[in-house]
Amino acid sequence: MSNALDGKVVLVTGASSGIGQGTALALSKAGARVAVGARRADRLKSLTQDAPGEILALDLDVTDRQSVQNAVTATVDRFGSLDVLVNNAGVMLSGPILGADLTEWTRMVETNLLGSMYAVHAALPHLLAAKGAVVQISSTSGRTASAASAVYGATKFGITAFSEALRQEVTAEGVRVIVIEPGFVDTELASHISDPAIQAMAKSMAESMRTLQPEDIASAVLYALTQPEHVAVNEILIRPTDQT
Ligand code: NDP
Repeated sequence: MSNALDGKVVLVTGASSGIGQGTALALSKAGARVAVGARRADRLKSLTQDAPGEILALDLDVTDRQSVQNAVTATVDRFGSLDVLVNNAGVMLSGPILGADLTEWTRMVETNLLGSMYAVHAALPHLLAAKGAVVQISSTSGRTASAASAVYGATKFGITAFSEALRQEVTAEGVRVIVIEPGFVDTELASHISDPAIQAMAKSMAESMRTLQPEDIASAVLYALTQPEHVAVNEILIRPTDQT
């Protein structure tokens, strides 16, 4: 990729809220042609109205391999290529291991880990052709495990392992792999936690600090994507200053 995002084609998964939405908007403002995917079509519709550039809304469930393949195909059909995949869709259903609802574990692994792997698999031929980039939205939970976050953390550690292997496989072909590891960002992520005690903990944590905003993560993504071609920013850890 060249420095400018102007005219580049980017697919952002999980763009109906939070970090994905903020990143899609920032990319559109930077001149990229953006395909946005998620399950909530109404949210994507309002994003397409807010974005200044060409934008394509796609029905996407990353846990469904065919849906992921269809999203990549639709992006390339519309824009003619694919330069960047922003692998962002994710869920955080935190809680202790003992007595956990196993369907929540399955959902996290299928969405955060398998879903992002499906997206790389489907996008890779196009990214190789474009000498493009993959942006993996991981987490501080992908660097440090913590109680009540075992499975979420396992999915994010998994993304790190997958990303490093991917990097080694494609860097010589000119494809850059960028792992972004946000700390606490003010989004809807924690609202899906079903354990009331953990939900309350997340709320009080958010109230105890000046959290990051989705735009802060979008800035990190844009920084990495606009470096000269010989510079691969492989990892960015970005936390609120107040987060210990
Ligand atoms: P949000 O809940 O606001 O956004 C999550 C996005 O993922 C939504 O657009 C949602 O869309 C999408 N999504 C969830 N399941 C699926 C699915 N099966 N198929 C397609 N899209 C799906 O939270 P964030 O913006 O915070 O989360 C984005 C990413 O950032 C996640 O990977 C998260 O782990 C990571 N992250 C967040 C942090 C934070 O503090 N907020 C910190 C570190 C990392 P829809 O429901 O419409 O399908």
